[in-house]
Amino acid sequence: MIINVDKIRNRIKTATLGSAKTPELVAVTKNRSEEEIAALIDANQRIFGENRVQEAQAHWAEKKREIKNIQLHLIGPLQSNKVKDAVALFDAIETLDRPSLIDALSAECKKQGKNPVFFIQVNIGQEEQKSGVMPEDLPDLLAYAASKGLKIDGLMCIPPAHEPAALYFALLKKLADRHGLEGRSMGMSGDFEKAIALGATHVRIGSALFGE
Ligand SMILES: *Cc1c(COP(=O)(O)O)cnc(C)c1O
Repeated sequence: MIINVDKIRNRIKTATLGSAKTPELVAVTKNRSEEEIAALIDANQRIFGENRVQEAQAHWAEKKREIKNIQLHLIGPLQSNKVKDAVALFDAIETLDRPSLIDALSAECKKQGKNPVFFIQVNIGQEEQKSGVMPEDLPDLLAYAASKGLKIDGLMCIPPAHEPAALYFALLKKLADRHGLEGRSMGMSGDFEKAIALGATHVRIGSALFGE
């Protein structure tokens, strides 16, 4: 088994421009084996991303108790009936996309005394089948979060699959700037360098960490 995490860290550093802060590497471990996850932990990786609450519990619930400073990001859609488990497990939830989820999360965070980082997922290519709030509805959703006392730390996007991503990364950056949001989670294995050049603060990388 080959783990490319050092190579990826170097590529992230190289792609980071001038005085910009080096973006966080969120190592995506969905569908990965225990062996692969252990190798990343051995390589001192501490920030991880998962798509599904249940798989994340299986991968991380015990490790988070045993290993210091593990930070877990939810990067897949969140159903309301999983909010309780998600708040218990995740340090960051990147896929906020609707008012009902804001209601459920703010209530559950109060109940559990938790304060996770929240990103709103923007459907940046306005694709019918994709989750995320439409760009034109972002201001209302941000206002709603504020009215519920939920602090939003940034935006996240997954650009359309078969188009050049740069335009969409630039648009996410612009939206974040317009609303004074510092976090910009964008860029995956195939396009993270471009995302960094366009202002990503978090890159979510899975397949490029493994193999070859
Ligand atoms: C799987 C996944 C990633 C990682 O994708 P790779 O192309 O394997 O790097 C990033 N973000 C989200 C939302 C994902 O579901």
